[in-house]
Order: sequence, then C-alpha cells, then structure tokens
Amino acid sequence: MRFVVLMGGPGAGKGTQAKRLQETLNLPQVSTGDLFRENLRNNTELGKLAATYIDKGDLVPDEVTIAIVKERLSREDCANGALLDGFPRTIAQADAFEQLLAEMGERVHVVPYIHVTPEVLLKRLAGRWTCKSCGHVYHTVFNPPLKEGICDLDGSPLYQRDDDTEETQKRRIEVYFEQTAPLLAYYRDKGLLVEVNGEQSIELVQKDLVQAVKDSN
Ligand code: ADP
Ligand code: AMP
Repeated sequence: MRFVVLMGGPGAGKGTQAKRLQETLNLPQVSTGDLFRENLRNNTELGKLAATYIDKGDLVPDEVTIAIVKERLSREDCANGALLDGFPRTIAQADAFEQLLAEMGERVHVVPYIHVTPEVLLKRLAGRWTCKSCGHVYHTVFNPPLKEGICDLDGSPLYQRDDDTEETQKRRIEVYFEQTAPLLAYYRDKGLLVEVNGEQSIELVQKDLVQAVKDSN
C-alpha cells in the first residue's frame, strides 16, 4: 500500500494534480473538500454542517473530518492506498491519520509539497472553474477549457465554487498559514516532505510529483 499526502495552499494545484496522478500512480484521489461537497449535494446532515464552515473559509472540525476520511479509506478502491488531497490540514488530523494508518499496519510514504506564493494562490482561485460532473478543474487564463463553460472531458457545465468569493479566498489562505502550514515542519521532521515548485506549468509540476513519489520508499 502507498499513502501520498499532497500538501499546498488553497489554489496550489492539489486537485488538478491529484486527478492526473490517479492513473499514473494507480491510487484513488481522496479529497476531503470533494467529500464534503458531495455530502452537501446529497443534502446530508454532515454536508449541511460542513457548509457552515466551508462558506466562511474556516476548517470543518477535526472529528468530523477524520471520521469522513476513515470511512472513505475503508472502501474497496483504497486497497492499494490513496492520494490524499486537502487532508490532513491540522496537526490533530495528521496525528489521527498516523494512528489510523498504524492500525492498518501502514504509514505515510511521502508528502509532496506544491509550493506557490500567496499572490499566485489568489490569482489561481479567482479564475477557477470546476466541472459539475467529474470535478476536473480549469482556469480562465492558465488552463482554459476548449469551449467556454464546458468540460473538455465529458461536456458537462463548469461552475465556480460557492467558497471562491474574494473574501472567502483570503480567509482560506489565512487559515492555511495559521493551521495547515505547521504541518510542513511536522512532515519535514519525519523526513517525508519533498518540495516541488508549484509555479511551473501543470505538466512540469506533475513530472516533479511523479519523481517525488518514485524516489520515496
Ligand atoms: P487546490 O486543489 O490546491 O485548491 P486546484 O487544483 O483547484 O488547487 O487549482 C487551483 C486553480 O489553479 C485552478 O483553476 C487550476 O486550473 C489552476 N492551476 C493548477 N495548477 C496550475 C499551474 N501549474 N499553473 C497555472 N494554473 C494552475
Ligand atoms: P478544498 O476543496 O480542499 O479547497 O476544501 C474546501 C473546504 O472544505 C475548506 O476550505 C474547508 O472548509 C473544508 N475542508 C476540506 N478539507 C478539510 C480538512 N482536512 N479539514 C477541515 N476542513 C476541510
């Protein structure tokens, strides 16, 4: 089994890369943000609770987030491991994740960190459009779809996330520096962090990420 944790600020390109790496690495993308949004679409209690935090740009409480990851990792497609996108986001989540993996006789193999400066993060978030159906991510300037507003892969309409308002974007970046950035030292101390320059083309970032995973043991 292999567990890869993609780190990076909001807008760094975690989702973009996770979608591409799924096939190359033969590991499913486990995105807590996607899981919360799926719950919200299905109108579950968990989705409604998560939305009260997501809409403000704050983090969903740790217990709720850890429980959703635990359930997701128990599904069959995670038999080979998983590519974590957006989790863990706090030290408490990272500790709980380590414990969860230890119970399975597993561990985190590598933590590629997609490094992008805050100014670029804001530009990325401002132009982000997502496919309603497959979740593929586009950018109006940096990665536009062939046909405006339509997904290249499945022809579904694209939408802008509710939490991609200017105010929420700023708050998410703040929350990232306060609560998630400490995880960089946490994983660096464990010898798992590999920094990748996130301000390259999507293809080059992908190449560096694949290399980081190949070099891990
Ligand atoms: P995250 O999942 O880390 O929040 P996304 O994958 O949603 O980030 O990417 C945020 C935005 O930046 C999207 O609009 C995406 O198309 C764009 N993007 C991702 N990677 C790059 C890149 N290397 N160069 C330019 N734009 C990028
Ligand atoms: P993302 O799709 O990763 O950009 O996440 C969107 C939002 O979902 C975040 O701004 C948080 O409110 C919430 N969220 C996603 N992952 C987590 C997590 N690991 N811990 C807490 N909240 C999360």
